[in-house]
Amino acid sequence: MIYLNCKNSIIGGGVVGLSVAMNLAIANGKGNDICLFESKYLGYGSSLRNAGRFRVHFGDENNLEFAVESSKYLNSLSKITGMNVLFAKTGYLWIASDEASYNILKNANSTFKKWGVPLTEIPSEELYKKYKFLRKRNEIISGFLGKEDGTIHPDSVIFGMARKCKSLKVNIFEHSNVEDISIRSGKVESIKVNGSKVETERVIIANGAWMTFFSEKLGLNLPIEPVRKEISVTEPFAYRIEPFIVDSSLHTYVSQTLKGEIIGSTSTGAEPKGLVELGNSFLWLKKYAERLSRILAGAERIRIIRAWSGYYEMTPDRSHVVGRSNDWPEELYVIGGFSGHGFMLGPLAGKLMAEYIFTGTMPRLLRPYSPERFKTGKLINETFVIG
Ligand SMILES: Cc1cc2nc3c(=O)[nH]c(=O)nc-3n(C[C@H](O)[C@H](O)[C@H](O)COP(=O)(O)OP(=O)(O)OC[C@H]3O[C@@H](n4cnc5c(N)ncnc54)[C@H](O)[C@@H]3O)c2cc1C
Repeated sequence: MIYLNCKNSIIGGGVVGLSVAMNLAIANGKGNDICLFESKYLGYGSSLRNAGRFRVHFGDENNLEFAVESSKYLNSLSKITGMNVLFAKTGYLWIASDEASYNILKNANSTFKKWGVPLTEIPSEELYKKYKFLRKRNEIISGFLGKEDGTIHPDSVIFGMARKCKSLKVNIFEHSNVEDISIRSGKVESIKVNGSKVETERVIIANGAWMTFFSEKLGLNLPIEPVRKEISVTEPFAYRIEPFIVDSSLHTYVSQTLKGEIIGSTSTGAEPKGLVELGNSFLWLKKYAERLSRILAGAERIRIIRAWSGYYEMTPDRSHVVGRSNDWPEELYVIGGFSGHGFMLGPLAGKLMAEYIFTGTMPRLLRPYSPERFKTGKLINETFVIG
């Protein structure tokens, strides 16, 4: 019989679960009482299906402050994990091609300035000189460049965190599906993994879009809705598109990987909701190809070679949910609902969650994100969602 010391059980081996595990182990100086269960393989979920971008520019000031701190934490990950995560401030270029988008960016900029992260407005005639790959379009009013935003490499983040966890003796179990969480006398008692009972003192649910399963099973009432999002890369070209271009009136984002592939996506407005099959659709491919040709000069001659999909885990206020509710069983925690921002915000959220568990005090930055807010109505007002 194998004895498992799973005082702390973490469900989900994405960037969020790994960050909680790694930071708990760092705080404790060892990870041998931490078990991380992943039903498939590390990074199977959205964590290895995303665009690998981060930004500090959010519409809500709680999120803005969280993102500014997150960016600093992302920048420290190479040192912490011992693996180069290729953090680079390559910028976000927001294209305003209608009055409404222009006004939103212009108005938000006064808040961004207050936080020391202003956007630089670039009028259209200068825009084409600076970014020669942009196709000229009469409707473009201005570009807004966010120099503090950028890119980070998902593979190195996931495998760097996993390597650090292993060096601290965290027990990582892949192909280990958590099927149930048992509660006894109002407290977490055990979990069922691949049919076997594992005793535990604490459970941290960090399984991204799949959180809906435990929310329903345990009556947690977490308003998280998976939405399938598609994304693709083209064949590689010489590296020219440094910023991440966000064209909100065309509902499209596009950039280039270091290898030279043009990576991007568009929103059709018909994205399927729920845990639907992770496939791709012709409708999406057609819309993306059309819109890409409107944004990039010469794009009609470029071949898309690979497309895939993943879930955004949407909440009603498009912001994450971290912590617990007072009426839940003791020692049950959740961390998720990142609404498409989990790769940039999840690592810091995981670190702060570990701090909360280790000290028993909720860190200030996490307080707005309690699941209680959906009962009290103290919602966050996030409007800057891309994709
Ligand atoms: C197309 C696309 C582009 C994106 N681009 C960006 C971006 O540029 N920047 C950004 O910040 N974010 C981006 N995101 C969002 C980001 O990828 C996610 O918010 C983030 O990865 C969520 O991490 P997670 O660890 O919470 O969830 P996941 O990475 O989904 O991990 C959850 C894991 O839990 C496992 N699991 C599920 N149920 C169980 C169970 N019962 N037992 C054990 N394991 C279980 C799953 O297999 C999965 O591996 C994008 C998402 C998509 C789909």
